[in-house]
Amino acid sequence: MEAGDPHSDPMTSANAAASLRKTCPGLEIRDRPEELIPYSFDGTATLHQLPAAVVFAQTTQEVSSVLHWSSREKVPVVTRGSGTGLSGGSVPVAGGVVLCLSKMDKILEVDSANLTLRAESGAITAAITEAAEKAGLFYPPDPGSMKISTIGGNVAENSGGLRGLKYGVTRDYVMGLEVVLPGGEVIWTGNKCVKDVRLHPPGSFHRL
Ligand SMILES: Cc1cc2nc3c(=O)[nH]c(=O)nc-3n(C[C@H](O)[C@H](O)[C@H](O)COP(=O)(O)OP(=O)(O)OC[C@H]3O[C@@H](n4cnc5c(N)ncnc54)[C@H](O)[C@@H]3O)c2cc1C
Repeated sequence: MEAGDPHSDPMTSANAAASLRKTCPGLEIRDRPEELIPYSFDGTATLHQLPAAVVFAQTTQEVSSVLHWSSREKVPVVTRGSGTGLSGGSVPVAGGVVLCLSKMDKILEVDSANLTLRAESGAITAAITEAAEKAGLFYPPDPGSMKISTIGGNVAENSGGLRGLKYGVTRDYVMGLEVVLPGGEVIWTGNKCVKDVRLHPPGSFHRL
């Protein structure tokens, strides 16, 4: 294994936090052992691993900075919403960092004319359902965890609940996504229109 490989040379909490604080000033970072424990597991029985640090991004720019840093320093990053997943997807890797997006929880827009809703990835699923209902609309995906789960976790896991039998699951309602690539580059996929090539502002669109 090469020097810097996270598996041969895992970052300590102190190293990871110090390096992150230097690179991303203002970013909320937790690295005390008692602060790391809640982020060492998700809803999956038996899987657990303490991360080196947990960071709470509040903007796309912060997500981009963290991923740019992790790519440069070769530190594995695991993204986390609310940690209700049942496939171990948000369980950290040894020596890695948890990038928690639960504080990016705003619903940015309900567009009744286009039947779309734009939200940050940490928006709680039930809040999206309620925002749609307030506008007289309907967002069908209803995982049993919807009062806790985030829309980002729903998209990553393609979640669905009982209403999926009639209306489909999360993938059937995603119109567009703002995506931060592993190196920190920000790209857009899709938008409010079923067929269009124009760019639109940040967030993710969901068909109502
Ligand atoms: C009581 C209970 C009931 C459940 N019921 C259902 C159900 O009915 N249907 C169903 O489908 N699932 C269900 N689940 C599973 C789980 O709630 C869903 O998978 C949910 O979508 C996870 O959301 P989360 O925000 O907790 O994601 P997390 O558990 O935090 O993450 C899940 C995965 O998504 C990734 N991820 C999270 N946010 C992002 C992001 N912004 N960008 C990229 N990747 C991201 C994580 O890395 C991880 O791989 C249930 C779980 C529990 C505990």
